[in-house]
Amino acid sequence: MSASHNEIRTEPRPNCFLCGSAGKSLYQDLPSALFETPGRWSFSQCPRSECGLVWINPTPVEADLYRAYENYFTHGGDNAGKRSGTSWRAVLYAGYRAMNHPGWVIAGIAREKARRARMFLDDFKPGKLLDVGCGDGKFLSEMQALGWAVDGIDFDAKAVQSAKQKYGLSLRHGDLRSAGLPSANFDTVTMSHVIEHVTDPVGLLTEIKRVLSAGGQLVITTPNIESLGHRKFGSCWFGIDAPRHLNLFSAKSLSDVALRAGFEIVNVGSTAASADVFIGASYTMQEKQGHRMGHQPTPSVLRTFKAVWWQYREHFAVRRDPVCGEELMAQCGKK
Ligand SMILES: [Zn+2]
Repeated sequence: MSASHNEIRTEPRPNCFLCGSAGKSLYQDLPSALFETPGRWSFSQCPRSECGLVWINPTPVEADLYRAYENYFTHGGDNAGKRSGTSWRAVLYAGYRAMNHPGWVIAGIAREKARRARMFLDDFKPGKLLDVGCGDGKFLSEMQALGWAVDGIDFDAKAVQSAKQKYGLSLRHGDLRSAGLPSANFDTVTMSHVIEHVTDPVGLLTEIKRVLSAGGQLVITTPNIESLGHRKFGSCWFGIDAPRHLNLFSAKSLSDVALRAGFEIVNVGSTAASADVFIGASYTMQEKQGHRMGHQPTPSVLRTFKAVWWQYREHFAVRRDPVCGEELMAQCGKK
């Protein structure tokens, strides 16, 4: 365990947790580009191409992980709303979406973004839904309006409080394993951008499988280490987010985690639905390389054009190469 240069204590994690292979160094001494977390961070990659897991090494010790979130604004909780500049940014973003909407409709991007926002559940009959890492409940409130009976859990107390105020949803605060939910209780569990943050992905999925009914399904989204964005931006890719992202998955390694937890893989692929967000943020990180940056970069017209161009490019590229999108989507079934 070492605390000499990091305020967050770390421990070495030399081997791939999935296949046991010794990792080879991928990135070294990256600053935490988002949220101004102290420390420099390195990543290892599993050398087996059929695995491809990437992980932070040395890794934050579990007791210090909370420090990685001290400046983090999750899911639009109270803190986010009070930050100066949030409202005009929201207006700019709404304008951006409105301007792009006609093109997105024609290209099919609007449909993909909507499917992504509903965690690809459009084709399923509404039932009992649990969202793990539910944030302020925006997703759950939309799903409730579509007829789902919703429940959610998040480690961020402010986000859970905000869900009550904004949407009248009574959600759970804490982590899934301590919550002790009844077995075989949900038809669907969703988990968006959570699995990359946890120390024991197989343990978490095993618990999810327990709370799912037989025939139930789990839908996961997470940054895709084999995406076009990571290939282009490398250590400046938005999906890296050290030291909060402990593991970064490929389609194969994400499938392996689900199989180990006893799921069957119904479908695994990727989506370019959030390519503009990932690529726009990656350009910012590339521009600021080596410098600490706040979490709210100055808007730029050029960067916006580049992000929009990438949104189209990746949307069509995913048709030829199903695992090149910025986010992985895995749909896993409980037998
Ligand atoms: Zn491996």
